[in-house]
Amino acid sequence: MRSVRGILKVIETWVAAPQTYFRINAWNKTFGREACTTPENLRVLLAPDFTAMAPDVLALTLVHESAHAAKGQSVIDRAARESPSFKVMLGALRLTNAYHYEAAARAYALFVRSHETARTLINQVELSKQLKDMMGNPEGISAAVGIASSPDPLAVLIQEAAQTALHARIQTEDMLMFLVNKARHNLSPGDDWRFCEPMLRAPHSRGSLVQPRDMDDADLFFRETGRLHQGLQHLSNGGLVTKAAGAPSISITDSHTVRYHVTVTDSDLATKVGAQPDLAARLRGLILKKALEKEHVTLVTFERLLGMWKMYLLARSQLGGYAVE
Ligand SMILES: [Zn+2]
Repeated sequence: MRSVRGILKVIETWVAAPQTYFRINAWNKTFGREACTTPENLRVLLAPDFTAMAPDVLALTLVHESAHAAKGQSVIDRAARESPSFKVMLGALRLTNAYHYEAAARAYALFVRSHETARTLINQVELSKQLKDMMGNPEGISAAVGIASSPDPLAVLIQEAAQTALHARIQTEDMLMFLVNKARHNLSPGDDWRFCEPMLRAPHSRGSLVQPRDMDDADLFFRETGRLHQGLQHLSNGGLVTKAAGAPSISITDSHTVRYHVTVTDSDLATKVGAQPDLAARLRGLILKKALEKEHVTLVTFERLLGMWKMYLLARSQLGGYAVE
């Protein structure tokens, strides 16, 4: 409830003074975004073609954006609405995913509002079925693999790996904007090169102007992290856990319905992952490595992602380690 109150407060602020808070920004599209919000000053950046958006879609976008801006809640984009990761996301984590609020508002608009307007009764059975279809069910997959009332460990590990890729995407986006800014004004990046070093092949002409090759590398790195993040978001465990002797292994195969299909050969995975943090770290590493292999990326490597993730962990106390094999 606290998060919804925070969201409402942001929307009220926006409605009261739209001139102050809304800006048009052509860069959004370059980064594949319709809108972007900076929580520090509550500013919303919209793509120039936002007027072409249907009012309903724009409203849902603003619900999503207001979740990012709500004070002290660090709501980020963890998994896209309708993606398998979204549907198995656990309750507490859902509240930190902006798509959760967008989907909840969408469910209301689709299934409840029309009944309210027409003053007709809502079929509760139908409503809960529709909600399950849209919002998913964190316990559903666990039941399918026979781990009663505990979260599916593999789904959680996939989400954690996706979060690492998301963080890399955001950091890369910042790097690209930083370099564009320097290149446009013919400035040398100076000491700030350190910020780009984990991402670029090898920054050129240290101390002098930004070179075209640096920009090409930064652009490639950005596109590759975006692809990796998207791939991980659509990773589904498919509920296939089979018993096997020896250490658990992970394989990702193509499937018609989901981009990847993860199989772990270990029926006691839930208990083991809970009790052995090093095993969880190894599995996270395996998921990330397999996803990298699948995407055939050239500049983004496991080691670079790991470096970026470590830098991030220094700044925040967050769980989720990786093991290097
Ligand atoms: Zn977002």
